[in-house]
Amino acid sequence: MNRLPAVFVSHGAPTLALEPAEAGAMLARLGRDLPRPKSILVVSAHWEAGRPTVSTSSVPRTIHDFYGFPPELYSLSYDAPGAPPLAARVKELLAAAGLDCDEAPDRGLDHGAWVPLRHLYPQADVPVTQLAVSPGLGTAHHIALGRALAPLAGEGVLVLGSGSLTHNLREVRFDAPSGPAPDWVTAFADWVDSAVVAGDAGTLVDYRRRGPHACRNHPSDEHFLPLLVAMGAAGPGATGERVPGGVSHGVLAMDAFVFSPSPRR
Ligand code: ZN
Repeated sequence: MNRLPAVFVSHGAPTLALEPAEAGAMLARLGRDLPRPKSILVVSAHWEAGRPTVSTSSVPRTIHDFYGFPPELYSLSYDAPGAPPLAARVKELLAAAGLDCDEAPDRGLDHGAWVPLRHLYPQADVPVTQLAVSPGLGTAHHIALGRALAPLAGEGVLVLGSGSLTHNLREVRFDAPSGPAPDWVTAFADWVDSAVVAGDAGTLVDYRRRGPHACRNHPSDEHFLPLLVAMGAAGPGATGERVPGGVSHGVLAMDAFVFSPSPRR
């Protein structure tokens, strides 16, 4: 079986489920263009745990983990089957890399997973499970976490990081649902793109110190970490290609990255 790429998507606000705009259309295209996966492992910014934790639910419920949004958003669901065999494989691979992994049998799908999945795979017919991020363990841990999962790409599994290329919720503008972005957003997004294209994981691990306006774009790490996991999951030396998704709410860059293994390997 050919290796699948690993993918990072920016999920924006939960309203992406109702108002797809440029990013939703891009995700729909991406879902059609990617080789069809046997199952999906989502690494979402909206599930944090102190150490790696994987959902083992066979029927993951849809979690509406947001407040103050239109009522119709709370009636949406994403009824894909769970993926217990994938969860077991994730535990096995992490153990082989020396990483303990807890199980969460009752965990459903948070909006970082189901909102983009509704556009990527609208039939909800690909089994899916989630792996938590651990902001307390730092950026390098998340590259290592992804690297440990790199064999999955050859086993028909799509590793899908879901966060946000830029994510300052204090500066979102609900009166400006689409671009153009201010310079501090564009500069950071372009800097990430350069490092991704160069396959420079070391620079991205140090993004908070080296990226322009990094702390303004990411007041906290959790929405950046899924990008590092996706990059790691494509293997050492992986490079990524940016898939433009426009800008949401003035300051949320909605681009995706598709990571492929290093051509030198
Ligand atoms: Zn989010």
